[in-house]
Amino acid sequence: MKAVAKLAPGPGLSFITAPIPKIGRRDVLIKVKAAAICGTDVHIYEWDDWSRKRITPPLIFGHEFCGDIVEVGEGVSSVKLGQFVSVETHITCGHCFYCRQGMGHVCETMKIIGVDRDGCFAEYVAVPETACWPWEIEVPAEIAAIQDPYGNAVHTALSADLVGADVLITGMGPIGLAAIPVAQLSGARRVFVTDVSEYRLALARKLGADYALNPKNEDPVTFIKDLTQGRGVDVLLEVSGNPGAIKQGFASLRKAGTASLLGIPSKPVEFDIANDIVFKSIVVKGINGRRIWDTWFKGQALLAKGVDLSKLITHKMPLEEIEKGLELMKAGECGKVILYP
Ligand code: NAD
Ligand code: ZN
Repeated sequence: MKAVAKLAPGPGLSFITAPIPKIGRRDVLIKVKAAAICGTDVHIYEWDDWSRKRITPPLIFGHEFCGDIVEVGEGVSSVKLGQFVSVETHITCGHCFYCRQGMGHVCETMKIIGVDRDGCFAEYVAVPETACWPWEIEVPAEIAAIQDPYGNAVHTALSADLVGADVLITGMGPIGLAAIPVAQLSGARRVFVTDVSEYRLALARKLGADYALNPKNEDPVTFIKDLTQGRGVDVLLEVSGNPGAIKQGFASLRKAGTASLLGIPSKPVEFDIANDIVFKSIVVKGINGRRIWDTWFKGQALLAKGVDLSKLITHKMPLEEIEKGLELMKAGECGKVILYP
């Protein structure tokens, strides 16, 4: 099969011909229908500090995808040959302290597809049957391929009570963008968003943001306070990882509000715990990945109810053009980039 791999430490990628993966007793083989590029793939491509520490080449990378099951191991019972599935990127062990209590999203020995084991920038991928999400509704392949970032958005947004709430989402990457329709359909009163990229702010308006603010042009804290009787928003969803956005997010949050943080700063961030959390009586939640499978059921239900992610998909190309897609991601001149192997 054809595949895209990191063959040795260092920047770049290689187009290779690889053997079709062999499956174990409880694995399935998936023929990839559509894959999507994630920020993590850009890190692996560029070979940043994180990749140097985490990735052991050779590795076929890529982890956002969907496809058809074309082979099943003899012990497989939960999915069938021919079934169309999306895949949960985080492979959990199923028996650690956390998994046994329904908290697989923080599994002690979690393995990530396309990071710790071969991924989806290929014609075929082998995964455990337990990582498959068989759809109960009709979903186009492009949408089924982006359930990882969409799930992150669902997990973040639904971690707070959104009904009637003024919500601020900082960072309009794919996850922040996907959180807009989720918040709107989940009962938010108004959705404010920030980003420093006009391209991303334009996408945010298309996805349904009520107020799309660029901190380079205006102070979002003043803007938000003016529209909330000086109080601030009820809920902050921090999805940028940018220290400035984190600071503005907390400053825009009302007393006793909820802050859900998914963005990952590249280094430790200085923070005024006393004034921004303690005296304001703020609830802070850390959001890691997706709850397995609660987030998926909620995400599916929201898609069925009308969450429209089609405008989030801005580019489609054959796998051979992946470098073009990675460059678009680096420049931030895209929503989701879909690849067809
Ligand atoms: P991304 O990293 O491209 O999105 C970040 C966005 O923040 C960009 O559009 C950027 O322009 C914007 N930004 C930069 N400075 C800003 C500022 N001062 N104010 C407002 N916005 C600003 O794309 P993403 O894939 O959506 O990822 C978002 C974040 O979530 C990243 O930090 C990523 O590492 C993290 N992440 C976390 C998890 C998790 O499980 N916790 C999973 C995936 C990604
Ligand atoms: Zn576990």
